[in-house]
Amino acid sequence: MTEPDQGLKKLIILGSTGSIGRQTLEVVQRYPERYRVLGLAARDETDILLEQVNKFGPAWVGVFSARAGQEMKQKLPAGVHLLSGMDGLCELAALPQADMVVVALSGSVGIQPTLAAIRAGKDIALANKETLVAAGDIVMEAVRRSGVNLLPVDSEHSAIFQCRAGEEKHVKHLWLTASGGPFRDFSPEQLINITPELALHHPVWKMGPKITIDSATLMNKGLEVIEAHHLFATEYERIRVVVHRESIVHSMVELVDGSFLAHMGVADMRIPIQLALSYPERLDSPGDPLDFPSLGSMHFEPVDTIRFPALDLAYQAGAAGGTMPAVMNAANEVAVELFLQGKIGFTMIAALVERVMARHAPIQGPDLEVILEADAWARQQCLELSTNIHH
Ligand code: MG
Repeated sequence: MTEPDQGLKKLIILGSTGSIGRQTLEVVQRYPERYRVLGLAARDETDILLEQVNKFGPAWVGVFSARAGQEMKQKLPAGVHLLSGMDGLCELAALPQADMVVVALSGSVGIQPTLAAIRAGKDIALANKETLVAAGDIVMEAVRRSGVNLLPVDSEHSAIFQCRAGEEKHVKHLWLTASGGPFRDFSPEQLINITPELALHHPVWKMGPKITIDSATLMNKGLEVIEAHHLFATEYERIRVVVHRESIVHSMVELVDGSFLAHMGVADMRIPIQLALSYPERLDSPGDPLDFPSLGSMHFEPVDTIRFPALDLAYQAGAAGGTMPAVMNAANEVAVELFLQGKIGFTMIAALVERVMARHAPIQGPDLEVILEADAWARQQCLELSTNIHH
């Protein structure tokens, strides 16, 4: 008997209904001889998840919410195994038959399944920022212990990962580029009046609501600074951010001799996704190439940390260490949600995060339990503070 799926990379995709998850499935669809979907999981978007199940035929399906679990139980095709809740996502992430787990969940819900996958020896394609931000030390230690590959999916970290390869000893600074968000040219007065509808319309990258708002506040870049610190074992003093509105340079590595290695390309997330899946091989581009002659010019400018204070908050959280990044991240998740619900103004997102951080005395060297406690505490604090705040 020949093994029918010999040579196929068997994937678990956590967060398959989100933007990154859907684009991961596009890559899988382009290369059916390379990849097979073994498991799909989502938070609660059952309609899209069912469509994906029917199209890609995974043997396993996971949902985070209990309500979605009930619904899926009735609708899933016969023979498909259903797992639900956090325990279910962790079990799915550690399935013995899986080769790689794509973590594309949004929020700190990604932490435990990622750890479960690493401990089970799975390679990880990581698109979830909050996992490294909140639990970076624990996650990187688990990666070292189990010897798995942790491949960044985020365009900036994928760029640095590629530029830094072979030059690890010569790195002086890591330079993260930031589009500056859709409001980079807004006055302080205009920033106060931003609505969720306006904020959700990002001009270049099409993304989910959480990361879109984070991009607009620049908290997204702050989360990426903390991620870069963990992924590339680089001190915060050696991580810089520069605004580059065209999003063509995806990030850079500055070497000790003054050379800069920049990663350039079109803004298409399928490229870093497929590299994470195929590494160290490279596959044909899914989209149009970058057309240099028609590019004209590229612009670079400093971040305005007065109008966009979230980036500094992230540097402060990183420097404070311990539970502080988890607290910052959780407070931000709640504040973004409150903004999306129309309960607080745009500039209150960073203000709330700052106030929650000011109330927190970080615990150093936390284990996962302490991190999750700090996360829950910060959510509660943020909600509490938001009720006393004038927009
Ligand atoms: Mg990014």
